[in-house]
Amino acid sequence: MATGGDYAATMDDVDVVPACELSSHGCVHHRVRVLDAAQGFIREHNAEAEGVVGGVALPDSYRPTRVQLLGERGKVQAAWTAADDGDAKRAGTHDATVSPVSAAITRFGDLTYVAAEALSGDTVVLLPVGALEPHGPHAPLATDTLISLAVCDRALRMLGSREPAHAVVLPPVGYGVTHLSDAFAGSVSISAGVLQSLLSDICHSLERQGMRRRIIVNSHFEPEHVNALRAAAEETDTTLFDVTRRRLAERLTDEFRSGAAHAGRYETSILLATHPELVDGVAMGMLPSLPVDMPSHIAAGSPSFEAMGMHRAYCGSPAEASAAEGEATLDTLGTMLVELIHSVRQST
Ligand SMILES: [Zn+2]
Repeated sequence: MATGGDYAATMDDVDVVPACELSSHGCVHHRVRVLDAAQGFIREHNAEAEGVVGGVALPDSYRPTRVQLLGERGKVQAAWTAADDGDAKRAGTHDATVSPVSAAITRFGDLTYVAAEALSGDTVVLLPVGALEPHGPHAPLATDTLISLAVCDRALRMLGSREPAHAVVLPPVGYGVTHLSDAFAGSVSISAGVLQSLLSDICHSLERQGMRRRIIVNSHFEPEHVNALRAAAEETDTTLFDVTRRRLAERLTDEFRSGAAHAGRYETSILLATHPELVDGVAMGMLPSLPVDMPSHIAAGSPSFEAMGMHRAYCGSPAEASAAEGEATLDTLGTMLVELIHSVRQST
């Protein structure tokens, strides 16, 4: 599914849905137009009467490169284009690169103000939150931010081509409270109060625009950080996707549940699935397992990674990480976030 820019898809039919619930929802004037590489016209079809979904079936020999959703008087509307899940993998079809008219559907920062204005009040706005702190000698400082974004992207992909208007992703907040790793280079912390104020301001601003359904998606678990998120969520009536809650944590991997959830097998696997170029595979492979129950240490007053025995800013078993495990974990996290998106949409 498209989350931005061109993407390769294998398809022999094209489904198009508006990027957002247009003010002309219900209008019958939408048409789907498919163009080839030279912007030549291939085929056009009326969208369904709802004006929500349009599809064009193409013979295998056509190679669509551009798809437009036309509104009244032929004006191009923002559109989301994707093959059905099954189509993308169907054997015997051809590859085609499709450039949606506006692929920037799911990134809030890519919308025009006109598109933002047209977002339905039912749209769920996701706010990814991470941190900038050491993640072992093998993984990037922004690991937690990258994971939060990846979880949002996975959830949106799972929502599928029929529901792209149901959620959008804000630019991430890439700074958090990282005092446990203060002694390491690259640890850039903000105070809990600043974090809480920042998130509250963002949520209040969205609220004023009628975006009442909001989820903070967090992947950094230092207690002071999580507490600031909980406080911001509570004071702004925003939902927090909090995988440290037992109900969610028990669906995650053994290592995560053991409390050794920093730059170990769990986080490194997600990175191998999403950003393998950012993982130093040689360094990763040489790291011995280091089981550390971080929550217990923190509860007992441990003030730093080093006091917990994490002298290289990791715990757990990064050497055992794999992209396959990362994919599986992302599927689990994405499923949990989709469940939360649906429940937030149903709340009044
Ligand atoms: Zn992390």
